[in-house]
Amino acid sequence: MVKKKSKSHSRTAKRAGRERRSDENFCKSCGKRVDRRAYICPKCGVKQHDSSKPKSKKSRIAAALLAIFLGSFGVHKFYLDKPGWGLLYLCFFWTYIPGIIGFIEGIIYLTKSDKDFEHIYG
Ligand SMILES: [Zn+2]
Repeated sequence: MVKKKSKSHSRTAKRAGRERRSDENFCKSCGKRVDRRAYICPKCGVKQHDSSKPKSKKSRIAAALLAIFLGSFGVHKFYLDKPGWGLLYLCFFWTYIPGIIGFIEGIIYLTKSDKDFEHIYG
């Protein structure tokens, strides 16, 4: 009984040791195991770019076109990760006001530089 228990325990321990834990990454520079959330490797001090989540880029033109053509339904707001505003637009689309605002927003998106747009909505 006791023998069996210890055997299975050592087997699982071996398996766990081989598996790469999901909360760990390996340093690109020295290969040392570092925490996934670590910004800098504690051993060699190299920045861990992979650990930072890449910012999702939104297309300025796509948002502008959505705002101009489907602005009254708030589609551009959903596209820009503002579902609350999107729902508000959707609720009032019959008043034509969101359509007008959406059209204006579309023009604003078009007049902004990519950098400004990314800064605000990216
Ligand atoms: Zn390192």
